[in-house]
Amino acid sequence: MATSLKLNTGANMPIVGLGTWKSPPGKVAEAVKAAIAAGYRHIDGAMVYQNETEVGEGIEAMIKEGLVKREELFVVSKLWCTFHDKSLVKGACQKTLSDLKLDYLDLYLVHWPMGFKAGSELFPLDCEGLTISDNTKFLDTWEAMEELVDAGLVKAIGISNFNREQIESILNKPGLKYTPANNQVECHPYLTQEKLISYCQSKNITVTAYSPLGSPDRPWAKPEDPSLLEDPNIKAIAEKHKKTTAQVLIRFQIQRNVIVIPKSVTPQRIQENFKVFDFELSEEEIKTILGFNRDFRVCPMHWGVKHKDYPFNAQF
Ligand code: NDP
Repeated sequence: MATSLKLNTGANMPIVGLGTWKSPPGKVAEAVKAAIAAGYRHIDGAMVYQNETEVGEGIEAMIKEGLVKREELFVVSKLWCTFHDKSLVKGACQKTLSDLKLDYLDLYLVHWPMGFKAGSELFPLDCEGLTISDNTKFLDTWEAMEELVDAGLVKAIGISNFNREQIESILNKPGLKYTPANNQVECHPYLTQEKLISYCQSKNITVTAYSPLGSPDRPWAKPEDPSLLEDPNIKAIAEKHKKTTAQVLIRFQIQRNVIVIPKSVTPQRIQENFKVFDFELSEEEIKTILGFNRDFRVCPMHWGVKHKDYPFNAQF
């Protein structure tokens, strides 16, 4: 089983990474250290998670201790929606780099296709509680992303939460310089994303699965929402392999050549989530898991539903 996927830039992206959304600043540095000690070489972050300074402290500590070299790590961050204006992209990337205490990122993603009004608020909302758009076009934002590669700030660029039509419009952009290397989207057995994954893979765009465990700590979770980690059918598959439900959820993605970024701040879980290279789900089990799809999104970003670039009204 390959432990990394080749990007269209030629670089290798480790197939399991550590997620850091909702990881409190007081805990995330230790989580990053525990992950690197456990063998992780890929860390997924974003400016909007408001913990990049502490993520950077964890990385710096492990490099200083000699446990890992910068070039062995694959560090990902994302351009937040309030920085889509071409004039703001480089500054946002530089802020992330300075918080992380790094001089380059391995991958920088446009976090969402939607641009929000620039300013001090990360989620500018109108009186109805909906996000306030700016008038940027993500094709222009993409050009500013391309400039980051040329300036040496990032090794690769990609997208996140883009639907097929939006990806296609980037691929068809006149003068396109760099094809997205990766699309990071929500993916787990209740949202299997078969069509989007096969489209991206056919275009040599790797896919990263976010919220692979169903994001049980998302702030808007409701008690009646389905819970992947407690799903008896997935538990049964896990028991058969003497593995945990989380390990099956992670293994399910890597066997589909999908990169996966489970989040945890619990050292024992961080280690557990990386022990996924010593067993194999059968084709039959993968098929069974795909059958659990119910198009259930844990991150629907409903505040953006009226935005011209809201990605989830399309079928995929
Ligand atoms: P996950 O699906 O990774 O679930 C995280 C939750 O699962 C936490 O509550 C964690 O608890 C718990 N958990 C982790 N491992 C185990 C385990 N082995 N057994 C039981 N529970 C476990 O959710 P996320 O939504 O955080 O998604 C992962 C990452 O994807 C994010 O952190 C972020 O980096 C990225 N992401 C990107 C988005 C985008 O728009 N591009 C949107 C959403 C996520 P604890 O930490 O307490 O151990």
